[in-house]
Amino acid sequence: MSPSNQDSGAPWRGDQAPCVYCGQVIARAGERCPHCRTSFSLAVRRASREIVGPWFYLDPRNPSGRGVTFEMLIKMVEKGRLQADSIVRGPTTHQDWMYAAETPRLAKYLGLCPHCFASAKPEDTYCTSCQLNMNERPADCRPGVPADLAKPPYHPSAYEIEKELAHSVPSAAEEASGGPSEAAPASTAAAAVAAFAERPTPTPERTWPVLARPVARKPKMWVVFALTWATLIPLILLWVFAVPADWKERLFNRAPSSGTPTGSGGNATGPNGQSAPADPRVNEQLKEADRAAAAGDFGRAIAIYEDLVRKTGDRTWNARIQDLHAKQEQEDRHQRLAELRNRLKLAEQLAADHRYADALAILRNIAKEDRELLATINVSVLRMQAVIEEDAAKWRAEGEKRQKLAAQLGQAKQLADQGKLSESLAAYDQIAADFPAELIREKIDINQVCDTLRARIEAASKPPTPPTPPTPPTPSMTPAEIAAAVAKLVGEANTLEKGEKFGEALSKLEAVKNYERKFWPEGLENRIESIKAKKEALEFFGMGSDKRP
Ligand SMILES: [Zn+2]
Ligand SMILES: [Zn+2]
Repeated sequence: MSPSNQDSGAPWRGDQAPCVYCGQVIARAGERCPHCRTSFSLAVRRASREIVGPWFYLDPRNPSGRGVTFEMLIKMVEKGRLQADSIVRGPTTHQDWMYAAETPRLAKYLGLCPHCFASAKPEDTYCTSCQLNMNERPADCRPGVPADLAKPPYHPSAYEIEKELAHSVPSAAEEASGGPSEAAPASTAAAAVAAFAERPTPTPERTWPVLARPVARKPKMWVVFALTWATLIPLILLWVFAVPADWKERLFNRAPSSGTPTGSGGNATGPNGQSAPADPRVNEQLKEADRAAAAGDFGRAIAIYEDLVRKTGDRTWNARIQDLHAKQEQEDRHQRLAELRNRLKLAEQLAADHRYADALAILRNIAKEDRELLATINVSVLRMQAVIEEDAAKWRAEGEKRQKLAAQLGQAKQLADQGKLSESLAAYDQIAADFPAELIREKIDINQVCDTLRARIEAASKPPTPPTPPTPPTPSMTPAEIAAAVAKLVGEANTLEKGEKFGEALSKLEAVKNYERKFWPEGLENRIESIKAKKEALEFFGMGSDKRP
């Protein structure tokens, strides 16, 4: 990996390479990746290429897996492998990770509208509840449906941000190039990178969440005109014919005062001030903002207040806005920490399953700012990485030790099988000295094996059957019996001598000496001496197989 590592030691020349599916470095030869467990068979390799596409699903087993086609996602939904709480990204999320339930185009296959989570059918384009197009986000409303029939999305602030994002790229480009024409891509990219590097702060130019319906990304001027008039004419008619006279009067009287803030001159009318504005629309908005804040949707509450400031010019709301920003930041921090905690837990789980590379990949992917956030609660990702790396090294070393142990046990057993019992015993003793007892215990009961070996060695060193001592002469034996016993011994000795079993022959002749001298055959002592000499001669030439006395 070091820059000097250029030739023979370079990793790409070695017998390891990244897994084609998950990117973890593994042995080149193999039938299946030990990390993502995907087979390398030709059929699977081919199939994996056929389903390549722009959709990704977060698979803890293979966090860096390749993208698949939308059809593949649908198949996964049908097989139950992809569920509403699965995490996916793709063209309709602009490659942002999202829950499948929130993902345009996909959610309806899970029976949900991605905007309001009402039940939906795959064949529907527009949600029957919120009336939004379920294939996109931000989404167009069903054509011909009045705006007040449409319901707000379930997560309005996230939806608002999506709308801003849909517009922010061209506006950033305009700023960078100084004009609305084609922006220099490099400066756009630079702006995007800069935006990524900073913590997102909500821009003050938020759209009015209640009134603003999703707008087409690049509206043509005539469309804007047509839509404006199409909306205004019914409103005017409504104003003229339907609104009660006293309402008209009240609104008419208040209308000019919207230029001059209701609490102008003093700052008594703070966000929680007693002198609430009398304008029912403003009141309605304040209530809406309170509801949003209470529900934890600070983005929406802030947007409402900012719109109030813009419309009324009353800057006393700014304190409230700052307060909400602080709360939102805190909420963001909590959510971020909760999300990070889940990732750290997953890493811990993987490490516990000895899937260290996967665990480390998760930790490595934690961005710098997230590491800094974790450091504020005294969690060090680097320290976790170090611990897991240490565990991985230990596990690897133990694996090597196990392999070595298995090899040495094999050799020791082979020695025993070949009958080299004491060598085998020595090998087992060496193993007991070299390896930790608990590692050996996983394989064999070494004490029992050694005991068995020792017993076999002892048995082998004993003479198979000790020569039966000649029956001592008993006084009860008759001379005839003694003579017969001596004759038998001498006959046996003769046979043994002919067979060059001199030791055994000698012991027979020595046994004769146990009887009274008068029973000894003639020249017994000489015969014994001559057989001893023959035995020694044989032994001198290294052929003394018969070692018995
Ligand atoms: Zn793999
Ligand atoms: Zn809906």
